[in-house]
Amino acid sequence: MSDCIFCMIKDHQINSTVLYEDDICMAILDLSQATRGHALVISKVHYDSVLEADDEALAHMIVVAKTLANQIKENLNAQGINILTNAKEAAGQTVSHLHFHIIPRYDQYDGFEPKFTDHQGKWDLEEIKNEILK
Ligand code: AMP
Ligand code: ZN
Repeated sequence: MSDCIFCMIKDHQINSTVLYEDDICMAILDLSQATRGHALVISKVHYDSVLEADDEALAHMIVVAKTLANQIKENLNAQGINILTNAKEAAGQTVSHLHFHIIPRYDQYDGFEPKFTDHQGKWDLEEIKNEILK
């Protein structure tokens, strides 16, 4: 038996609130409910994160995430949606099994706060580009 919690969920060895399921992925409600309706799309095959995932599985999962995001937005009266995936501990990944978060957004006080600090001018963009593409 796997000790990966999402493998146990996709194998129906532990309970979850399932919103959608097919051969490639399933969507469940996240226990933490960062905002009301917070859902996860998890892969049926275990990949540690998006960085290791199969391209076809990913392409399918993002379409499932989009469809569900629209359904959540419409039926829970959300004003917007954040779709995101954390890869590796440094990025906040706590479960090492590929998943996309679908986080309905209601207003700025809804409990979810993605923060982009503005570092404009701090680094040379050409230098960064050359380093990435070397
Ligand atoms: P991350 O930190 O991006 O790896 O996200 C992992 C998410 O999985 C967190 O938001 C947890 O609340 C959620 N989670 C952990 N265990 C369960 C579970 N048994 N059922 C539903 N969601 C879970
Ligand atoms: Zn797993």
